[in-house]
Amino acid sequence: MFSEKLELICEGLAVWESVKDTRVLEFFEQEVSRIGLDIQNVFLLEPEEPNCTGTQTTSSAVKSRRSYLIFLHPKDSVTFREIKWTIRHELAHIIYGDCNKSRFMWLPEGVRMALADAYYLLIGEPRANRYADSFDDY
Ligand SMILES: [Zn+2]
Repeated sequence: MFSEKLELICEGLAVWESVKDTRVLEFFEQEVSRIGLDIQNVFLLEPEEPNCTGTQTTSSAVKSRRSYLIFLHPKDSVTFREIKWTIRHELAHIIYGDCNKSRFMWLPEGVRMALADAYYLLIGEPRANRYADSFDDY
């Protein structure tokens, strides 16, 4: 069914809302409490329309003031096993401060962006993968 709203949000302004699946939420709360974060400050989001993720092409964790937003991309959340792995991967980025934007702030922007990309590829991503892989309850 075509709707004008869907067309609008698919132009990049997708609507993300809190995950409602109680099994996923229970797991999320357990993992957030395991790492010592306040559940009030960490939000697990999914797109209102599964086929409409706007500019988000992967799952990600983003810091917003004192809160963290985890975008659970539909391509990473087909099975419960994948959802658990992805949640742990994104929480690892929070644990290790990978989503704190202040990194390399003292450098010129071009250099900073290049270093941030290298850091992400060489350190942040492998470390988050190792963290998610380290659990054996999948
Ligand atoms: Zn990652």
